[in-house]
Amino acid sequence: MDVSEWQTDRKQTRQIMVGNVAVGGGAPVTVQSMTITKTADVDGTLQQIYALAAAGCDIVRCTCNEAAAAEGLAQIVPRSPIPVIADIHHQYKMALAAMEAGVHGLRLNPGNIRKPEHIKAVASEARDRGIPIRIGVNAGSLDPALYDKYGGPTPEAMVESAIREMAYFHEVDFDQMKISVKASSVPLMVEAYRQLSAVTDVPLHLGVTEAGPPPAGLIKATAGIATLLLEGIGDTIRYSLTADPVEEARAGRQLLEALGLRERKNVDLIACPSCGRAEVDVIDVATRAMAAFGERQLPLQVAVMGCVVNGPGEAREADIGIAAGNKRGHLFVKGRNIAVVPESEMVEALVEWAEFINEHGTEAAIAKADTALAEREAAKDRSALLDTQGADVNHSSEKIVEIRKTISS
Ligand code: SF4
Repeated sequence: MDVSEWQTDRKQTRQIMVGNVAVGGGAPVTVQSMTITKTADVDGTLQQIYALAAAGCDIVRCTCNEAAAAEGLAQIVPRSPIPVIADIHHQYKMALAAMEAGVHGLRLNPGNIRKPEHIKAVASEARDRGIPIRIGVNAGSLDPALYDKYGGPTPEAMVESAIREMAYFHEVDFDQMKISVKASSVPLMVEAYRQLSAVTDVPLHLGVTEAGPPPAGLIKATAGIATLLLEGIGDTIRYSLTADPVEEARAGRQLLEALGLRERKNVDLIACPSCGRAEVDVIDVATRAMAAFGERQLPLQVAVMGCVVNGPGEAREADIGIAAGNKRGHLFVKGRNIAVVPESEMVEALVEWAEFINEHGTEAAIAKADTALAEREAAKDRSALLDTQGADVNHSSEKIVEIRKTISS
């Protein structure tokens, strides 16, 4: 299937607005995260929200678990650069207080606000104020009656929990909702979302709950969220990591960019895995390059390659790249050598050229460079390396001979 085909082959959901951000109905898939400060700490929470927004977060959630948190929200919401959702558990009055504070959305857990009159009171108020609500089902906190009915947190139990909550909302003519059916088990959440998507056109918020610390948490969350997105399911996502929430926002953004669901905003750094031919510590250079690019919004693919013998060719699609050779850094643009710098300056040079390309384009960079000189110098270092290392530094042909012997013996 052509990439653009599966991008448009997404499940058509209804659209709701969370503040000024559209969710569902063909809107770009959005990234959410949650602050980990006390919501009553207004300055601390706002600092975290600004960091999240810079990392690609579109919508932020803050807990509203006590009166002081609701009061904090009243000061946070007007100063937040992105819409704010209040997270509500157990106390329906906190939902009413958060709406009073001006939040752009609510998240209710149907497993722990169970009285129909409380649910309907919140939905009626949200309807009158035009505030959307997420029905946030969690496999770990379902209504005990559903555990009994299904014998555990099954996909069917989770879907029924969401549908029951929706029915209460409909009784008071409220339909500005989105739903999540999260679980810490990837297969369970994937199946629950599939079943839910088959029976409703309400926008879906995807997540693997309590995914844990990176890197395992990142892998779990990506496995669940990416599987569903590639099936066309999901309108907004959250990585639930045991880490600085900025990492959640960054991961969400990077996943959407990798899947072609959002336009690239930051550098896509690719790096070779290194091998016997590497002339530098590729991990170190790639890490330093990543830190040097930081949050600079350069929508470019940047390559860090271990050697000038193969690097420029292997990464010829990159907008800009660097390859090491003979204690020098060889810069290349779309596979063309453009400059050579001392190894100690290669990261700085990479950032400088990336900024130039971001402003003027790759053609202008090639035109500005002395490509003949750069290519000559690269050829010199390439042949010096081939002379010292030989053409088969990874000993591949010796291994092939051994493999053949093993098979034929
Ligand atoms: S051949 Fe060079 S560019 Fe390719 S993996 Fe080895 S060091 Fe990296």
